[in-house]
Amino acid sequence: MKDDITLAQGRGYLAIPGPSVVPEAVLRAMHRGAPNIYEGELIEMTHGLFPDLKRVARTGGHAAIYICNGHGAWEAALANVVAPGDRVLVPSSGAFAQGWAEMARGMGAEVELLDFGRSGPWDMGRIAEVLRADAAHRFKAVLAVHVDTSSSVRNDIAGLRRVLDEAGHPALLMVDCIASLACERFEMDAWGVDVMVAGSQKGLMVPPGLGFVFFNDRAAEVRAAMPRVSRYWDWAPRVAPESFYQYFAGTAPTHHLYGLRAALDMILAEGMEHVWARHERLARAIWAACEVWGQGGPLALNVADPAHRSHAVTALRIGAPHGTALRNWVESHLGLTLGIGLGMAAPDDPQWHGHFRLGHMGHVNGHMILGLLGGIEAGLTALDIPHGHGAIDAAAEVIAGG
Ligand SMILES: *Cc1c(COP(=O)(O)O)cnc(C)c1O
Repeated sequence: MKDDITLAQGRGYLAIPGPSVVPEAVLRAMHRGAPNIYEGELIEMTHGLFPDLKRVARTGGHAAIYICNGHGAWEAALANVVAPGDRVLVPSSGAFAQGWAEMARGMGAEVELLDFGRSGPWDMGRIAEVLRADAAHRFKAVLAVHVDTSSSVRNDIAGLRRVLDEAGHPALLMVDCIASLACERFEMDAWGVDVMVAGSQKGLMVPPGLGFVFFNDRAAEVRAAMPRVSRYWDWAPRVAPESFYQYFAGTAPTHHLYGLRAALDMILAEGMEHVWARHERLARAIWAACEVWGQGGPLALNVADPAHRSHAVTALRIGAPHGTALRNWVESHLGLTLGIGLGMAAPDDPQWHGHFRLGHMGHVNGHMILGLLGGIEAGLTALDIPHGHGAIDAAAEVIAGG
């Protein structure tokens, strides 16, 4: 800033793609003394979480809650259906698909990774070829990331189910919705998804610490045929517990459960269709601003085709060192924290500083997004980074219903 005052005092805004902003209602719900984990109110409250989680996932199947982050949910899902030596297919459009593939490798699976780059969706034709070539049906599962948070690509899950069906391939369709659940339209049953994983700290607006695995009866049959499943990750006792203790294979994540209750109440009161529509409108406002900035300078959306852009996270290129400079400026001067670029360049590569991401998942509304965009505009101006003018007008038009 050219003068020496700071504009960073006031409520900070963490606009990174997870953890996301935690609503006051969730914080208040968590602010309490330790409850009894053997009987009483916590037990009743916890029973009620499962049907509501399934409403958010749009499934009549099963839901298991784990004390873990998203990586733990990845491992939980794999541990139940993939044994060492089993083959899995992983179409990739970013670092998180590669991460899940890596985890499967670490658990002894044989992984075939189809790399479709880091700025566009899968090539369904290529996936179809690979599945048809697998006449012996050796692929036991396809691991699919709905929204890859590194690239901000959103993939077509219903389309992938059609490809599997058309190839007559019985592999389980396993989907990572860690970034997309309660942000983007996702229909677990209608889209034929067998296993879905999610985490608490993105669209679900709860601090990191809960992992979720949803699965249908087909996946339960595959689990039943497994030679063994590690006791902690085994989903079977968690969905049909003989005692409350078995829900979590030990002590319940007490405070997170209260937070989750409050978050589910907010999500279901708004309604899934409205939650999705809100995220879409806010995302379109962000894209509109970015497109205008890009007309007069180096800023560019990582995903060119709006049809394949996430509504929950936006990856941007701006050229080194502008990405890091902009993040630093808006954080120190405005109290606004933007996400680092992920998976686009190694941290020791100068190009690392040319990428950043915006998280717009969960507890976000119109004034927050306009503040986010206004903050970026101020940063571009302060740092003399060339940019097109009229970005905020363009975003306001979208917010206003254009
Ligand atoms: C955040 C994220 C993960 C990893 O979750 P952690 O809680 O950081 O382990 C995995 N997949 C996707 C798509 C994500 O957005």
